[in-house]
Amino acid sequence: MAELWQLTLHEARAGLDAGSFSAVDLARACFERIGQVEDRVKAYVTLTEDHALQQAEAADRALAEGRGGPMTGIPVQVKDLICTNGIPTTCSSRMLENFVPVYDATVWARLSTQGAVLLGKGNMDEFAMGSSCENSAFYPTHNPWDLGRVPGGSSGGAAAAVAADEAIVALGSDTGGSIRQPASLCGVAGLKPTYGRVSRYGLIAFASSLDQIGPVGKDVTDCAIALNAIAGYDPRDSTSLDLPVTDFTAGLTGEIKGMRLGIPREYFVDGMEPGVREAVEDAIRELETLGASVEPVSLPTTEYALACYYIIAPSECSANLARYDGVKFGYSYQDTPDMWEAMETTRQQGFGPEVKRRIMLGAYALSAGYYDAYYLKAQQVRTLIRQDFARVFETVDALVTPTSPVVAFPLGDKTADPVQMYLIDVCTLPINIAGLPAMSVPCGFSEGLPVGMQLIGPHLSEERLLDIAYAYEQATEWHKARPGL
Ligand code: GLN
Repeated sequence: MAELWQLTLHEARAGLDAGSFSAVDLARACFERIGQVEDRVKAYVTLTEDHALQQAEAADRALAEGRGGPMTGIPVQVKDLICTNGIPTTCSSRMLENFVPVYDATVWARLSTQGAVLLGKGNMDEFAMGSSCENSAFYPTHNPWDLGRVPGGSSGGAAAAVAADEAIVALGSDTGGSIRQPASLCGVAGLKPTYGRVSRYGLIAFASSLDQIGPVGKDVTDCAIALNAIAGYDPRDSTSLDLPVTDFTAGLTGEIKGMRLGIPREYFVDGMEPGVREAVEDAIRELETLGASVEPVSLPTTEYALACYYIIAPSECSANLARYDGVKFGYSYQDTPDMWEAMETTRQQGFGPEVKRRIMLGAYALSAGYYDAYYLKAQQVRTLIRQDFARVFETVDALVTPTSPVVAFPLGDKTADPVQMYLIDVCTLPINIAGLPAMSVPCGFSEGLPVGMQLIGPHLSEERLLDIAYAYEQATEWHKARPGL
C-alpha cells in the first residue's frame, strides 16, 4: 500500500470519501514526508502545521456531515506571493519578510472555503523574477531528481514539493513560464490558464498584464480538479472573465482522434539539448499514434518575444514595485530623519539584485524619450505575437513544443549571466504575451532528468489542452516516475 503522501489528488479524494483515512491522517502524512525530505529540498518558506491540522479537523467534520467537495481535506502548498490572511506572505523577499496579510487572495479564499488544507507557503524567486528559484532571498529550492540542480522557477517550491511528495497539489503563478518551466524540470504537470480565467486579487503583482495563477499537480486530472476550484469570475479583479464556470474534469475523455496539432518550428531553438528534442519528438509521435494529425507551422514573430517580454515585464514591475517605499508595509529603514534616505535605503536593502535589475530596466524603458522606442514598440510587437497565434489557430487545434530547451541545470550554473537565465524561457514567454492557456506534462528523461512537453491552445481552450495531455498520460508512464529521495 502506498504511503498517503504519495497519493494524487484524485486518489486522496477517493480515499477520503470512502473513509479509508481521514483528512487529519492525510495532513499528518504530508508533514511526516516534509519532515523526511524538506531539509534537503527546501520547497517551503513557511510551514503551517497547527493551522493545517485545525483545517483538517474541520474538513473531517464537513465530510462526516456530507458537506464535502472536491477539495475538502486536500493538503496544498500555496506559492508565497498569494496572500493568506494571518499567515506570512513574503514573495521570498527581505522586503516582505515580516509581512502578514490581513486578507486572503481570492484563490486561497475559494480553496479554504472548500475545505482545502494549507501545508505552507512555497519558495520562489524573489517577486517571481527568475527561472531557477535561486533568486529567493532565503535559500534556493533543490530539484528532487538531483539535489545539486535547480527546480526551475519562479514557482520552484511548488514543483519541487509536488515532485517530492511534500504536497498533494500546489498553486503557482506564471508570468513568463513560472508554472510550466519548473513543472517540466521537476517532472510534474503544470497549467497556466488563459489570462483572466483565474482571479489575481491578492496575488502580489509582478507584471499585471502577464501574471496568472494556476495549479501544479502530480497528473493531469489533479490539475483539472484544482483549476475547477480556483477558476471563475471575481468582481475584485477587473481583468477576470465573467464566464460560466466549466467542469474541467468533464472533458477528460482521452479521445484525440482527428485533433490537429501544429509543431511551430521556431520553438525547436538552437541550443536545445538533444535529449530534450528526442523526448519531445517521441511524444509528438505518440500523439500521432493516438489519432491526432501533426503538421509543421510557423510563428515568425517568436524571435522577438524574449525582447518584448523583457521590456513589458520589467516596465510593469517597476510600476508595481514602486509601492515598497518603507511607509505603509514591508521592510522599513528608519535609522535616519531624512525621508528620501529612508526610502532609498529601504529599497536598497529590501530588494535583491535581480529585482533591482528589473526595476531599473523598466524605469528606463518607461522614461521620457525612451517610452516610444522601447515600451510602445514592445506593445506593438505584442500585437504581432498575438496575431501570429490567432493565425495558426485557424488551422490547428493546439500546438506542441518543448516547455524548456534544457533540463534542470546545476545550482549556480547560470547565476552569473542574466541573459543566459532569460533564454531558458524562450518557449514559455510568448504564451503569456498572448494571454493564452498552456500546459506542461512530463514526456521523458534526458540524462536521468525530466523533460516536459508544452501544449498551447487558443484562449479558453483549457478543456482541450487538458484532454490532449490526459490522452498522452493514459498512453505513457512518465507521470508515474518519482525521484528516489
Ligand atoms: N523567468 C521569467 C522571469 O524571470 C518568468 C517568471 C515568471 O513567470 N514569474 O521573468
